Amino acid sequence: MSVEENIIEVRKRMAAACERSGRDINDVTLIAVSKTKPVPMLMEAYDAGIREFGENKVQEILEKRPEIPEDAVFHMIGHLQTNKVSQIIDKAVLIHSVDSLHLAERIEKEAEKKNMISDILIEVNVAREESKFGFFPEDVPGAVAAISAFPHVRIHGLMTVAPDVVVPEENRTIFSELFQLSVDIKSKNMDNVSMNVLSMGMTGDFEVAIEEGATMIRVGTAIFGSRKRLEN
Ligand SMILES: *Cc1c(COP(=O)(O)O)cnc(C)c1O
Repeated sequence: MSVEENIIEVRKRMAAACERSGRDINDVTLIAVSKTKPVPMLMEAYDAGIREFGENKVQEILEKRPEIPEDAVFHMIGHLQTNKVSQIIDKAVLIHSVDSLHLAERIEKEAEKKNMISDILIEVNVAREESKFGFFPEDVPGAVAAISAFPHVRIHGLMTVAPDVVVPEENRTIFSELFQLSVDIKSKNMDNVSMNVLSMGMTGDFEVAIEEGATMIRVGTAIFGSRKRLEN
């Protein structure tokens, strides 16, 4: 199947999940995760209507962005090292992977230098996997409160990378927990903080994520095909 056919299929599955859960498909943004994939494949996706791309490496965003029409945007979805913040901060439309106060502090510092506001999500390790980045759920309210004091950083919501499971249904509680956490934080009405974005769901489980309230899904394999193991 072509990238275009894959996108049509993913959009159909998104629509069905929205239908099942009484949601408006316009409230769910499809981010095409193009990591390790070459620019011509991104252009196929662009021609099929994709305007949001996701990458997990700073270098790939820096290389690909100039090759793609300007009305497309790149999301930084992978772990971000503090020493790369200055390179990416004005190139990514949203940083999904803010996983420490230290990183948020650096983003604040670099955003101030560039006289801009950086839009971010807080990454949550809902399943408490040792191999994953992100705050534990109980640490999120405190982190959000601390980061909300940073004038050049704006928190738009939460993100999680759910466990790799065989049956997508197994991740339903992970997604509902993230949704509930965002509701709890929203109810605190903190300055500088909105909880309008819930970035959750990938190729294996995006339908369940939509049913549990995802507003952004990050889909790679179902659009671009599998990646070589090592480059994952
Ligand atoms: C690679 C990646 C995805 C996409 O994964 P697929 O299973 O290929 O859809 C989503 N989110 C993050 C953070 C990733 O690194």
